[in-house]
Amino acid sequence: MTRMLIMGPPGSGKGTQASRISDKLGIVAISTGDIFRYNVKEMTELGKEAKKYMDNGDFVPDDVTNRMVADRLRQPDAQRGFLLDGYPRTAGQVEALDAMLKEDGHALSVVIELTVPDDELVSRLLSRADTEGRADDTSEVIQHRLDLYHEQTEAVIESYVDRDIVARVDGTGQIDDITERLLQAVYSVRERTGSLPVVESVDAGDAES
Ligand code: AMP
Repeated sequence: MTRMLIMGPPGSGKGTQASRISDKLGIVAISTGDIFRYNVKEMTELGKEAKKYMDNGDFVPDDVTNRMVADRLRQPDAQRGFLLDGYPRTAGQVEALDAMLKEDGHALSVVIELTVPDDELVSRLLSRADTEGRADDTSEVIQHRLDLYHEQTEAVIESYVDRDIVARVDGTGQIDDITERLLQAVYSVRERTGSLPVVESVDAGDAES
């Protein structure tokens, strides 16, 4: 069972690659950015709340985001494994995700980091602004999103490096080549960690509380 994350800065191609590799691995891809954008479009309460933050390139508050992910992970299609795209991005979200998984005795098996130099990210995002017209793809907001990534989300990746489940993958070049590199990285982390526990085991008393 593969429960994995794809991490990477805005513009790294995570969304595109997430749907490609989740298809190959037979698991569902869950993108918090897509769920938020859907809710904004449908003008739900969640969408109205999230929009204030998204338009400025800020993180939606952890309590809102964590609740949304917890609901999503309870759906039947997430019971056979999943690939989370864009979550967690803060230390608080890492803790929340651990708690969600621990409840069912599960743990993450793989974290993939897609790396792309900042100058390439900015030019990709500016050209995406021309084609997709996303409200958060202006140069000021792009810079803010990149800053947040460097300030907070990189530390999230480091916390997973400590668990020895991270593979770094070069996110530049041809889309097909990147997909292939990602799949190879997933296979090699799965092989390397084998059946080793990836989080500390808990005793029965702890698990019941
Ligand atoms: P993305 O499409 O992943 O770049 O996400 C677009 C926007 O949605 C972000 O700039 C945030 O405002 C919001 N968002 C997505 N995922 C998260 C998250 N894990 N935590 C907080 N905000 C998020």
